[in-house]
Amino acid sequence: MPYTVPKLTDFSTPALDSAVRELLSALEQESAAVSSENDWKAFRDRWMARKSGVLTQLNDLWLKAAPGPGKREVGQRVNELRDRVETRVLETKEHCDTLSIARSIVDKRHPIIDLARAFIEASERAGGQTLTTDEAFSKAEPVDITLPGIRRSLGAEHPVIKTMNEIIGVFRNLGYSVEEGPEIETDYYNFEALNFPPNHPARDTQDTLFIAGQESKPLRERLLLRTHTSPVQIRSMEKMKPPVRVVCPGKVHRNDALDATHSPIFHQVEGLAVDTNITFCDLKGTLDHAMKALFGSSVKTRFYPSFFPFTEPSADVQISCIFCGGKGARDGGPCRNCKASGWIELLGCGMVDPNVYGFVDYDPAKVSGFAFGMGVERIAILKYGVDDIQLFFNGDVRFLEQFG
Ligand SMILES: [Zn+2]
Repeated sequence: MPYTVPKLTDFSTPALDSAVRELLSALEQESAAVSSENDWKAFRDRWMARKSGVLTQLNDLWLKAAPGPGKREVGQRVNELRDRVETRVLETKEHCDTLSIARSIVDKRHPIIDLARAFIEASERAGGQTLTTDEAFSKAEPVDITLPGIRRSLGAEHPVIKTMNEIIGVFRNLGYSVEEGPEIETDYYNFEALNFPPNHPARDTQDTLFIAGQESKPLRERLLLRTHTSPVQIRSMEKMKPPVRVVCPGKVHRNDALDATHSPIFHQVEGLAVDTNITFCDLKGTLDHAMKALFGSSVKTRFYPSFFPFTEPSADVQISCIFCGGKGARDGGPCRNCKASGWIELLGCGMVDPNVYGFVDYDPAKVSGFAFGMGVERIAILKYGVDDIQLFFNGDVRFLEQFG
């Protein structure tokens, strides 16, 4: 007969002693009968289930039924019993687990079997020689079953991708969508449609990596590794009519020698907004907001005249130095990060040159727009205080882990 919690009518100490003894003896008996994980679960639920476990019944049938003066003693006993039951349930689980390991050893599914096998093989290899246990194990190169397993660490975003996603996020919040394009481009999309005519001197400023063996093709069809993500702007305008608001993130290539600030591969995020009545004020407001979102609300921006073939007018954007707060001095000396100027040059921008609209069938008399582009590594270097661009591409886990 399985144990059931009796209804108590006599709450005297001897009566309680006897009821407690009976309960504990039932606990021992049932615990001893547990021999598998399923047994254990049933055992645990029978004693500890919130709704109708033995412990709950003790509360209802003993504690609540106890008359006023006896409540204190009954309460103490019920508490002690709860501790005993909980401990016993845990001990039973431990025993049950050990039993299961022991069974797997006996069933020859356990690593210790390999160890034993290695020992036997080493002994056989020793020929007629008698080996001590230690000698045999040292020859057998036994598996240390107490060593921890191989842990796979969690992956994390690469700092360049992380920064790129942050930049994209800022513009997504402004209503921009994301467009991507091919890394191998034609001369037409990379240069010509962006207002770099053949032999334009601006082409010399970008050391381009061309795909070999295309001399027989007309210039505009020759393939190259794109030197900027601007071709995606042309491709986007070919696809959609104004209003256009896109950001174009991606990898670009230039024939630059490796050093601390240059890499033949790097990443850009470019942006383009074309609509009616877009002015330089919109450009300034947009980039000022973006820089504050990326570097903090105290960052100031300023715009300097510059030149790009596909924008007119063009500007370089500088932000106030985030290391010295724009003061040009830090720790009692000149700030190295901004060369004591208080400003850091960060990106290029401008109003889209009306000539560009001619390539994509937009009417320059009706629409206007702006474009901007920034190097992702450059921004990541500033944000994370990295001093060598190569660190991003060496694949050194010790460096990358810091961004996890
Ligand atoms: Zn500075």
